[in-house]
Amino acid sequence: MGVNKSDPGTWRQATKLVRGGTERSHFGETSEGLFLTSGYVYESAEEAEQSFKGEKKRYMYSRYANPTLTMFETRLAQLEGAKYCVSTASGMAAVFAALASQLNAGDRVVAARALFGSCHYIITQQLPKFGIESVLVDGTDLEQWKKALSKKTRCVFLETPSNPALEIIDLRAVSDLARKAGASLIVDNVFATPVLQRPLEFGADIVMYSATKHIDGQGRTLGGAILTNNADFIEKSLTPFMRHTGPTMSAFNAWVLVKGLETLELRVTRHCANARAVAEHLSGRRGISKVIYPGLKSHPQHNLAMSQMSDGGSIVSFEIAGGKQTAFRFLNALKLVDISNNLGDAKSLTTHPATTTHQRLSPEERLKMGITDGLVRLSVGLEDPEDIKEDLDQALTTAVR
Ligand SMILES: *Cc1c(COP(=O)(O)O)cnc(C)c1O
Repeated sequence: MGVNKSDPGTWRQATKLVRGGTERSHFGETSEGLFLTSGYVYESAEEAEQSFKGEKKRYMYSRYANPTLTMFETRLAQLEGAKYCVSTASGMAAVFAALASQLNAGDRVVAARALFGSCHYIITQQLPKFGIESVLVDGTDLEQWKKALSKKTRCVFLETPSNPALEIIDLRAVSDLARKAGASLIVDNVFATPVLQRPLEFGADIVMYSATKHIDGQGRTLGGAILTNNADFIEKSLTPFMRHTGPTMSAFNAWVLVKGLETLELRVTRHCANARAVAEHLSGRRGISKVIYPGLKSHPQHNLAMSQMSDGGSIVSFEIAGGKQTAFRFLNALKLVDISNNLGDAKSLTTHPATTTHQRLSPEERLKMGITDGLVRLSVGLEDPEDIKEDLDQALTTAVR
């Protein structure tokens, strides 16, 4: 686990991203070392005994901790302003560990309905198998949160902006309600990234990431992370869960991701500028009935978005008039932008949520989440925005008859 202690406290964010958590070995390497080792050697049998008793803190086994993972975790913790960071094999491993490590049979979970498909599965299918009640609410409606949180609740789970309809949830208001209900608020902050939004500052207890997305940002590795200031949760719940169930990040992936953090702020800033340019370009175009981008004034929660995020993010969703057929014609006509369900990548990627990431849901559930048959999600990459716009234009001309 990365404990945030190497931060000298005076470093500004850009410096933390480049240097935070670096631990040089005796070789004096410039870059962070890749410690591709499963185990560690003890000086003596006595040292091994002390380590297992917990009297001596040192690396013992890479399911517990590994120096490359520690560097990644410490750097991310510094960026988030969190005391603790625990990395996981994937974003979904982070979601499941954050929930399963602290829930007991008979507990209650309240979540916003607009969730990433696999998060929806964990909350509505997996947790009830263990005797955990799950309640979904419209995350944008504070009255529904109030009602659902009028009962004792163990965990609250939400993502903002949501995937793929980019709904914004009021972090401060929901964290106040969660606290009153005795619940721990877990925020899936993947779409915003720690560069744009830091939910702990708004009262969240736990933040989680799919590091697969912007933190890698170049489509190479899977990874996840859980961050918090809550020492009790780390010591009593999460650390034993991680050690004994084993959803550990690989050292190689941690190395890719710690290097990814060095350029995260630069990339996210450019992603946002490109996404804004694309969103503005698409607004009001023939064949597009709606453009959703939190950075545009036309977004119904633009003011709330800008009060908790420092920019609009890298994802633009839009509705193509004519439904699935026209949307498919549009995707198939793209020449630069790839069809892929990943996001936060240097390459612009697009997907049709109704038939891919959210196809498991019933049509009624999809509609409640704003996922119509014409909805297209575009993860705007780092290409020249003029090239992205030209590609979207030519595909629209082909698709819209
Ligand atoms: C991708 C994603 C996840 C899952 O992350 P993986 O690394 O793919 O397991 C969870 N939540 C959101 C919002 C995501 O976009």
